[in-house]
Amino acid sequence: MRPPLVIAGAGIAGLALAAGLEHAGDAPPYVLLDERPALGSTGGAITLWPNALAALDAIGVGDDVRRAGHALGAGSVRTHDGRLLRSLDLARSAAALGGPLVAVRRGELVEILHARVRPGTVRLGVAARGYRVEHGGVTVLTDTDPVIGVALVGADGYRSEIARALHPQLPERYVGFPAWRGLADLGTRDGIEGVQIWGRGRELGIVPLGAHACYWFATAREPAGGAADDELDHLRAAFAGWPDPVDRVLAATDPAVVTRNDVMDRAVPRRWTDGPVVVIGDAAHAMRPHLGQGGCQALVDAAVLARLLHGTGSSAAGSPLAAFGAFEALRRRPAERVVRMSRAASRAVGAPTPVHRLSALVPDRLMLRSLARVAGTAAFPS
Ligand SMILES: Cc1cc2nc3c(=O)[nH]c(=O)nc-3n(C[C@H](O)[C@H](O)[C@H](O)COP(=O)(O)OP(=O)(O)OC[C@H]3O[C@@H](n4cnc5c(N)ncnc54)[C@H](O)[C@@H]3O)c2cc1C
Repeated sequence: MRPPLVIAGAGIAGLALAAGLEHAGDAPPYVLLDERPALGSTGGAITLWPNALAALDAIGVGDDVRRAGHALGAGSVRTHDGRLLRSLDLARSAAALGGPLVAVRRGELVEILHARVRPGTVRLGVAARGYRVEHGGVTVLTDTDPVIGVALVGADGYRSEIARALHPQLPERYVGFPAWRGLADLGTRDGIEGVQIWGRGRELGIVPLGAHACYWFATAREPAGGAADDELDHLRAAFAGWPDPVDRVLAATDPAVVTRNDVMDRAVPRRWTDGPVVVIGDAAHAMRPHLGQGGCQALVDAAVLARLLHGTGSSAAGSPLAAFGAFEALRRRPAERVVRMSRAASRAVGAPTPVHRLSALVPDRLMLRSLARVAGTAAFPS
């Protein structure tokens, strides 16, 4: 029997790749390994830009995700003292980007992708610890029996062991702030508008998820590794006095779903491939969260690689090695650009308030044009 394609990591990138292989038809045998004991996702919700929705369309689940999610309408950017920096008009941004952004609960996105994956192919509680290229294929090392594959896709996130095997001592450093995320249900029918509020080395964003629920994220300068006894109390103190609805949203948050992650700058591995091995998603190009593009780029990677593995795109002609080479050639530059843009966006958000006021002088038209290049429908390589 032909050895399977081994996908290390059943997160957004890994599941989307498997779903993409199934959608393309005549999928090769594959197996997904994930170190966690159960599938699912922490982190509340995720914002998907039109590039990611185009990728989801390419793997056949775009409409399922649109139905499960919430298309984002008007929103604004404000300073912590309530001053309006920019108001975002849905029609204009959708016209510039090729469609609206959609926010969806991460658990629902994972479920939609998982439903398209061949039953019995996900092996939970199995961590990939490295690999050996041998016998014309690859041996994936785990804590127990090795897994033999025709090829290996490292989709194991920003702590990727596969990326570290490709690039030992991959540089990484704490950027100076953690990111918190949560879900709130305000129980009102008034509707919530999307808003990002910036000030004093802090930021808090609120993303509507239907009539009365919302997803929020926050960053604030603090040492790494710290964890408050009660993160919500800690955040309510850190954001006290910020404009409505910040306190209402934090007060309506379920403490059990609040996550806190130290944000790291991890270098892009100097190579993404090693013969029958490739990395995708955060493993290939971890980035700061400020553009909301990490998961979007992971979905684009998965859709592109599924297409190349099917042999219908470029010159890959069905061979994993050729497909992996073509994948890196196609995806490295655009993904690195988004890594740089995300870092720049993060620095701008963390800048003093006068810089925020200056940023408001950039016309919407220019801002949208630059975002469309990396996150619009046209940024998905069709
Ligand atoms: C605060 C914050 C907000 C964000 N907001 C957005 C947003 O709005 N929009 C957006 O597009 N992106 C956003 N992101 C980024 C996004 O979450 C990631 O880029 C995305 O999850 C990457 O997908 P992935 O599949 O590459 O990695 P992951 O989703 O991390 O999946 C990796 C999988 O591999 C498994 N794994 C790890 N190690 C191993 C191993 N050794 N062996 C086997 N399995 C392993 C893990 O259990 C996991 O299931 C945000 C990130 C943060 C921190």
